[in-house]
Amino acid sequence: MGTKLKQFLQDSETKAFDLEHRRKIRFNIGKYNAAVQNGMMAYQHHELARERASFLKTQTINNLDKYLVEFENNFTKRGGKVIWAQNAEEALREIGAIMKRKRAKSVVKSKSMSTEEIHLNDFLEKNGIETVETDLGEYIVQLAGQRPYHIVTPAMHMSKKDISELFTAKLGIPLTDDAQQLVLTARNLLREKYTQAEVGISGANFLIADIGGIAVTENEGNARLSTTFPKTHIAVVGIEKLIPSMVDLDLFWPLLSTSGTGQNVTIYNTILTGPRQPTEKDGPEEMYVILLDNGRTNLLAQPEQREALNCIRCGACLNVCPVYKNIGGHTYETTYSGPIGSVITPHLAGFEENKHLSFASSLCGACTSVCPVKINLHNLLLLNRKQSVDEGLVDKNEKLAFKFWAKGMQNRRLLNIVPASLKNYVFRHVQKDSWSVRREPLEAAPKSFNEMWRKERPKKS
Ligand code: SF4
Repeated sequence: MGTKLKQFLQDSETKAFDLEHRRKIRFNIGKYNAAVQNGMMAYQHHELARERASFLKTQTINNLDKYLVEFENNFTKRGGKVIWAQNAEEALREIGAIMKRKRAKSVVKSKSMSTEEIHLNDFLEKNGIETVETDLGEYIVQLAGQRPYHIVTPAMHMSKKDISELFTAKLGIPLTDDAQQLVLTARNLLREKYTQAEVGISGANFLIADIGGIAVTENEGNARLSTTFPKTHIAVVGIEKLIPSMVDLDLFWPLLSTSGTGQNVTIYNTILTGPRQPTEKDGPEEMYVILLDNGRTNLLAQPEQREALNCIRCGACLNVCPVYKNIGGHTYETTYSGPIGSVITPHLAGFEENKHLSFASSLCGACTSVCPVKINLHNLLLLNRKQSVDEGLVDKNEKLAFKFWAKGMQNRRLLNIVPASLKNYVFRHVQKDSWSVRREPLEAAPKSFNEMWRKERPKKS
């Protein structure tokens, strides 16, 4: 058993029986569910919107090469610079070079999963650059020294009490149960950082091909400050984030916010099309967009599985997933958790080490039913399982067990010859560390149905 799988099983076991964790998640997801139900009421034909979004993203992903070049041409026309990064190392090297040129000592960052993916904060820290997360949830997990727990709400696993205790320990403020006080503390500390930082780093929710711009969605205004105050802005964006035209935001913005937080539309929606122009008063002097592949083209090369690139990272599939709700976001040990994380991580970060995630699912299909771009998530999990079998990545014992099972199933006589006592011995042995740990052991009946049928069925006259 691989180390990652071992760790995953151990952590799942611990988290699944951590009742306090379950209480917090149930509370926070409960609030989310109520908001989403409310938000859905603004749609007359939500299903039609999903159909359209699915069609549009599929078309875009199938023509990604064309749209990426269109984006680059349009973005560079206004003075923006595009950097193509094949993997995390390339992206970090380029960011490091910009930091050096700018003599940057500090960076303000707005929430971005692609920068989590390349471990940007660790890299900057190692290079002596202070990095401050400006999204409140990200700021909280950064203070706690943790990874984001959820792709939309990074501190979902923490209660108000947890955050207050964290702020007391790290920032020296008195304990409080006043949420507003906690927000004000963070805000006051962060405000200063915007004006000091030489570089601002963000992700983007969408890359817009026809105008050569990026669209950033947020609720706190911190992304606007992080991308416009510092003299240099770098956006790290996965290549799958493309949409063909600015008018498509009319469809995608409400879908993203309704599925993500239940809002009809998020509070701040910003489109950035390059550095400050001569006639403009604010904005950065330089703007870079790093187009990050980092395994996405592996997925693109799989015609049946590339549908996963349609994801707009709303987080809805995580909130309905019974596995995610029980084992929590950190157990996955990946940037992207929950159903979409289990689907894409093996392709982005290595199939052999991460294939187990595709098996951590009940295949109930709840994820598929809520996805705003209609990704057939539970089917993709099955395709990943098939791929791991096709590539011979299955555990030796499992292979052997299925070989015996297939032999038995194809030979009625053989199955009847083996006595129930021997079958039970095998069951007990095979399941002692898995099934039988928390359940009654499986037992074979003294006589199989086939044996009873042979004995009991009415004889033909
Ligand atoms: S797979 Fe669908 S539901 Fe899950 S995060 Fe992506 S867009 Fe949202």
